[in-house]
Amino acid sequence: MVDPDFRDRDGWIWLDGELVPWRDAQLHVLSHGLHYASSVFEGERAYNGRIFKLTEHSRRLIESSEALEFDMPYSVEELDKATQETIQANNLENCYVRPIAWKGSEQMGVINTRARTRVAIAAWAWDYIASEIWEKGLRLCAARFRKASPESFPVTVKAGGLYLVNTLNKNHALREGYDDALVLGSRGKIAESTSANIFLVIDGALHTPIPDCFLNGITRQTVISLANDLGIEVVERDIDVAELARASEVFLTGTAVEMTPVAVIDYEGNSYQFTVGGPVEMRLIGAFRELTGMAARAGSV
Ligand code: PMP
Repeated sequence: MVDPDFRDRDGWIWLDGELVPWRDAQLHVLSHGLHYASSVFEGERAYNGRIFKLTEHSRRLIESSEALEFDMPYSVEELDKATQETIQANNLENCYVRPIAWKGSEQMGVINTRARTRVAIAAWAWDYIASEIWEKGLRLCAARFRKASPESFPVTVKAGGLYLVNTLNKNHALREGYDDALVLGSRGKIAESTSANIFLVIDGALHTPIPDCFLNGITRQTVISLANDLGIEVVERDIDVAELARASEVFLTGTAVEMTPVAVIDYEGNSYQFTVGGPVEMRLIGAFRELTGMAARAGSV
């Protein structure tokens, strides 16, 4: 299968305050964001025309941009409105949404304080996750690289540069025949996968790492609050890889993967196996699908 070229599509992209034809949403090669990774972005998802946790995402985009010292020209309300306009202009109901802010071409050097902050929002159709993933579960291997330490960068924001590591880890996992990688934090504790947060079920309680060196996902926060509502104990703490042996269920959370079960984690000669569609995950997935309005379309896990 040939991958689609994202330049060559019909539709509209919101660029610096207005909707422009998809193919005209261009930027110059001498853009600071391209050379020095000065970009921040979001990944959002609309269910039946409603963007899930839109305001939380718009707020996070602004927080990420502030952490990178951008002058974000739009408020949360303006970003919310622009995002809604973008999906409406493209007649999308179930879709992925990609807002991005980056530093422009007004400066070409390490310093970027005079480069303009540019903002774009694109959206494209994206249907529900294939049910076989829910049935089989994901297989993870050990990542090549750890997360950067919190002393090295504002590592908890959604900055483009941080995805260099995620991409190398994901490429490695797929080359090795896995679906994804288990990434450790700089202190050697479990952190997340290459693009989603991780939860373990141990003795009926949810255990998840403290988000001190990775993104505190909006889906992660949603799952924690659903667990609290359902009376499922949630423990945020440092987790060692060896503790995977005690987990009955493991799942990933994120806008793209929603809540996806993990079947196997192969790590340094150990193969940890987990129940796919276990009781704790099933309860949480049911509640999550109620929230997104997708309960009616849910297949078996
Ligand atoms: N960690 C990383 C590295 C991610 O890319 C994502 C996806 N945005 C997440 C966690 C999950 O975040 P969210 O639930 O906000 O999508």
